[in-house]
Amino acid sequence: MEATSMKQQEFTLASVTDLTSSSSSPSSSSPVSATFSRVNEVTELRFHESEFGFDLSSTQLFKLGPLQFMCVSDRSDSIKEDSFSRGVVIKFREEKESKEFCDSFEEWTTNAAGKGSSSLANGTVPDGKSKFDNKIEAASAKMYFHYYGQLLHQQNMLQDYVRTGTYHAAVMENRSDFAGRVVVDVGAGSGILSMFAALAGAKHVYAVEASEMADYARKLIAGNPLLAERITVIKGKIEDIELPEKADVLISEPMGTLLVNERMLETYVIARDRFLSPNGKMFPTVGRIHMAPFSDEFLFVEMANKALFWQQQNYYGVDLTPLYASAHQGYFSQPVVDAFDPRLLVAPPMFHVIDFTKMKEEQFYEIDVPLKFTASVCGRVHGLACWFDVLFDGSTVQRWFTTAPGAPTTHWYQIRCVLSQPIHVMAGQELTGRLHLVAHSAQSYTINLTLSAKMWGPGANQGGILQTSSCKLDLKEPYYRMSQPQDIQIQSDDLEEIELLQQNANAQL
Ligand code: SAH
Repeated sequence: MEATSMKQQEFTLASVTDLTSSSSSPSSSSPVSATFSRVNEVTELRFHESEFGFDLSSTQLFKLGPLQFMCVSDRSDSIKEDSFSRGVVIKFREEKESKEFCDSFEEWTTNAAGKGSSSLANGTVPDGKSKFDNKIEAASAKMYFHYYGQLLHQQNMLQDYVRTGTYHAAVMENRSDFAGRVVVDVGAGSGILSMFAALAGAKHVYAVEASEMADYARKLIAGNPLLAERITVIKGKIEDIELPEKADVLISEPMGTLLVNERMLETYVIARDRFLSPNGKMFPTVGRIHMAPFSDEFLFVEMANKALFWQQQNYYGVDLTPLYASAHQGYFSQPVVDAFDPRLLVAPPMFHVIDFTKMKEEQFYEIDVPLKFTASVCGRVHGLACWFDVLFDGSTVQRWFTTAPGAPTTHWYQIRCVLSQPIHVMAGQELTGRLHLVAHSAQSYTINLTLSAKMWGPGANQGGILQTSSCKLDLKEPYYRMSQPQDIQIQSDDLEEIELLQQNANAQL
């Protein structure tokens, strides 16, 4: 159904209650009509009997239940002089009608935003959408919350014992940060972190979850009666919901691949700005992206070979080669996700700090990391390996949770950006470059990586002679490579070395 081609569309409602009139009883007990129409370039929604019409370029619809909605306009129609907000609560007779109305509302509103907004002030966003909806594509958000609405995916996270166990330890060993405090669980999922906080003695926990998982969380929490009386599940987006009080502590697990994938860290800092009282605590507090160049001939050949299919000149009589270059480029635009042997790293790692207590939401839109490494071995660099860790900066214990190669594997594994043109390095040679992450509306990032090595040998001191290689990847489209056998035999002295590297890194923070 295309609203643009229609002049008018009518729905029948069970009742309409005007919130802004002095009497709050339903204006009509018999069925009422709601009509979308376009009059003099203004798209409006008018309820039968009411002389007031809602200008759809400034009207928002809130779902209160399966049959009930609240419709709010931030100004009266142009005929009247006053400019008070207006609101009605509308009720439908059945769910089918309510859904159809909702779809039509969206279509007519989109339509109004483009055409009937001449009366809006400069810079006003005329779509009445939330902060989340304005930056994230509806299709991406729908798939995202559908995914998290399924128990199997929550189970997958719960069964990552390194992850869940570290959160449990970080909460329990810092009881004093939770006991008697108000806690908000940002993206509660199954509600597990809310229950950890309640177990640690929280006075009250608000478990905020946008997906259908909120209903399961309610059920799970209700089945733990000792905790349930101190936990309230709120179904909705952090960006949209309201809370009755400020929080002393935020707890969340907003980390994605490369830390920033899923763009949920933005939600975490929005929760901080909206709900955390000054001097409140954040669990986790700080995150770091770690990076190091790696050499992996086997992975490189495997990726290059995938595109060889398109080198065939006689595939059932068809020449496939016109698409070879595109296929090759396609494979090399996928970041590789798997657990790799840390001995593949050719230089000590460096890291980029993201302080959740300070970072502004907008600073996540573009993240620029200058790179500088000194190769410790000689070999071909095939790209940049990345992982992350987060710090729970508790009052009693500071605990790091790491996804580093060589450390116990988590469901994040590690990520590698592979260059289609490897770079040759010698031990002691310096590698420079840039990792540039640009957020996109599908809840992920475009990764731009450039690595350069100064030429080695006699030419080097003539300066500026670089061997440079770069690639552009979409973090949203990773190549999950976990089916590969992981016959990693790590020597105990290797482990010691990794621990030492990690300790040094931590000491630098
Ligand atoms: N805290 C749970 C789940 C972590 S997964 C655990 O540790 O096991 C992240 C959860 O945050 C998902 O369930 C997802 O639906 C939710 N989420 C993501 N963005 C959100 C937002 N903007 N508002 C509310 N919930 C959100």
